[in-house]
Amino acid sequence: MISDDIQPYIEGVLRHDRRMISKTITLIESTLSAHKKAARFVIDQLLPHTGRAIRLGITGVPGAGKSTFIEALGMMLVKKGYSVAVLAVDPSSVRSGGSILADKTRMEKLSVEEKAFIRPSPSGGTLGGVASKTRETMLVCEAAGFDVVIVETVGSGQSDVAVVSMVDFFLMLMISGAGDELQGMKKGVLELADAIAVNKADGDNIQRADFAKKQCETALHFSTPSSPNWLPPVLTCSALNVTGIHEIWDTILEHREKLSSTGELKMKREKQALDWMWFLVKEGLAEWFYKNPYVKKIMPRIEKEVEEGTTTPATAADRLLFFLDDK
Ligand code: GDP
Repeated sequence: MISDDIQPYIEGVLRHDRRMISKTITLIESTLSAHKKAARFVIDQLLPHTGRAIRLGITGVPGAGKSTFIEALGMMLVKKGYSVAVLAVDPSSVRSGGSILADKTRMEKLSVEEKAFIRPSPSGGTLGGVASKTRETMLVCEAAGFDVVIVETVGSGQSDVAVVSMVDFFLMLMISGAGDELQGMKKGVLELADAIAVNKADGDNIQRADFAKKQCETALHFSTPSSPNWLPPVLTCSALNVTGIHEIWDTILEHREKLSSTGELKMKREKQALDWMWFLVKEGLAEWFYKNPYVKKIMPRIEKEVEEGTTTPATAADRLLFFLDDK
């Protein structure tokens, strides 16, 4: 594809043409090498127009109420005049090719709003690959002028880490009684959060939600906050009844103000971009290594030697890494 063919994508995104935004994202998600090259070119051109959106990550176990919450928050933001894009990083789309997050049947009200744009998780490839495409999609949405980009994920350690590395604010949705371990309190996910919201604080569940809030506060007390200027608060909300959602949005804005005034937000984004580059380098190295014909050829023999104890794992690793097999 030559640059003439790419211009309509760039111009389309910049004038917020929804069809061209979708087509650009499809280009990003393509596995064809010509498309990959074109996508990279488009993103490079769009990059100067990015950076203005509020990047918000939301995690929580399935059933925590993420889509109900995003619908409630999204509708509130749209009413305030913001435009909102919702994207997803979903490990199940890596394994099965099917995504359980952010599809069109969820968030029914938000998905028909003109100021909202919902895109399901790209499928296939590695988690890093999927996350990488979501990151680039986020940049496209920013260049298209969306004010808030929400990236949703499912509370699995790895995908949470991937999402934390692309957002300004990471919100963890919890529910009472689902077990701490299940919800990641012991897996260190809690430490990634900039705020925790205990959802479903409604009806006869209010007391349990308040208790869960206290438990979270205690757990947070023992973890290290990611910023010296921000202690992650624990809030309660009901996505269903749309209560507590304003308070959460205010918290997000307060965090933004604080981190912007200290210069931390800029630094955070710079570090995220660097971390991301190194992550992709590592992933690219691994892919290049395992696809290398020479490595493929000598691998079975070297594996056998290690199993039989005729060579040490360290020597074997060197032989593989530095192509030192002279047999
Ligand atoms: P997700 O899997 O995290 O996206 O969760 P969903 O948004 O699909 O919600 C799972 C279930 O919990 C649905 O039946 C929702 O109606 C319900 N739910 C979500 N938020 C609330 C809430 O605030 N209160 C109550 N009572 N139910 C909720």
